[in-house]
Amino acid sequence: MITVEHALRILYEQELPASKRIKLAVNQTVGHVLAQDLTAPIDLPPFRQSIMDGYALHLNGSSQYKLVGEIQAGSSSTFALKLGEAVRIFTGAPVPESANAVIMQEKTKKTNNQIELLHQPEPGEQIRTAGSQIKKGSVPLQKGHVITPASIGLFRSLGLEQIEVSAPPRISILVTGDELVEPGMPLQPGQIYESNGQVLEAALKQFGIIPILKLKVKDTLKATRDTLKKALDQSDLVLLSGGISVGDYDFVGQALNELKVRELFYKVRQKPGKPLFFGRRKNQFVFALPGNPASTLTCFYVYVLPFLNRWQQVQSAGLLRIKLPLAAAFKNSFGRALFLKARIQDRKVHLLDYQSSATLITFAKANALAYIPESSTHCAAGSLVELLLLPYGSSN
Ligand code: AMP
Ligand code: MG
Repeated sequence: MITVEHALRILYEQELPASKRIKLAVNQTVGHVLAQDLTAPIDLPPFRQSIMDGYALHLNGSSQYKLVGEIQAGSSSTFALKLGEAVRIFTGAPVPESANAVIMQEKTKKTNNQIELLHQPEPGEQIRTAGSQIKKGSVPLQKGHVITPASIGLFRSLGLEQIEVSAPPRISILVTGDELVEPGMPLQPGQIYESNGQVLEAALKQFGIIPILKLKVKDTLKATRDTLKKALDQSDLVLLSGGISVGDYDFVGQALNELKVRELFYKVRQKPGKPLFFGRRKNQFVFALPGNPASTLTCFYVYVLPFLNRWQQVQSAGLLRIKLPLAAAFKNSFGRALFLKARIQDRKVHLLDYQSSATLITFAKANALAYIPESSTHCAAGSLVELLLLPYGSSN
């Protein structure tokens, strides 16, 4: 058995094949990773823009201006303003070259065609110059950036239709267990509904990844080996759930061995997820995740996600980690590192009750995983604890 740190080191040390690039329509890119620096094809804003609803002025130092017209957002009309002239202007509308400031309408008084300024604007006030947000030819986002809804807005405002992203690995999800049935079927004695397959699929989807293959495997050596072979024939990465423990019907280890998947590590001194396996066969990788639902998902976030991030050359791999104080004292008497479902509330870490690896109730309510190293046996209230922030974690 190895420590969490050692396991992560092995994972980070793996040389990975160069990831391929694919072009996607902008609206398909959320969660994907920029394959190259983004170079701005145009200035943003593309022209001198009014920041406010108000009046564009050709400043004359006085507080009286003559109103000579109006410019709406989207309008191409322009005015050659003379000294002391003003034009009504709206947020986002082009400011005429002859205007050197915009005054917000709240700071003016209008009578007929005359406006009075209640404040003397500085030259350039309330004007966004062309390229002041992004200069044409500059690099607003770099290779390895994970695309968010905000990035999509940026692509759109730069007029881009397609973006080159790093192709994720081709992933197969294999779910083992004779006891598993699909929702919709009545449960026979001894059966439970399958969940890990869809949990993994949903977790991948949050990062823009869709598995190429999803298979169920019966608990026999032959079925496990044959299905695993089928998955390995087409995948870069295989995620297995269950069957990796030491039970009489756990055939994943033997099947991996027979298919020449070399063990990189097996069994980590952690809770949940002790029987985690990670291996490779040339440039193909396998995670065999322990079947208990909270173990599967914890191992996904702690190990599989950083692996995927590295594959796609994400700038910083894995969930965001921060430190916050514990709300109450905690004793780690397990002799292993712990990943505890936690809620961050009022800037404190509340470790949740009911940490069983067999249930997802606590996981569903958590917004972070608290990492308690195996050496931390006594954690005092107020002591700093490391947190892995869960995606979509809400604060209520
Ligand atoms: P295993 O790792 O195969 O020994 O499974 C450990 C526990 O997790 C058992 O109680 C299984 O029934 C449960 N389990 C395994 N796979 C799944 C799954 N795909 N969905 C829900 N529970 C599972
Ligand atoms: Mg099983």
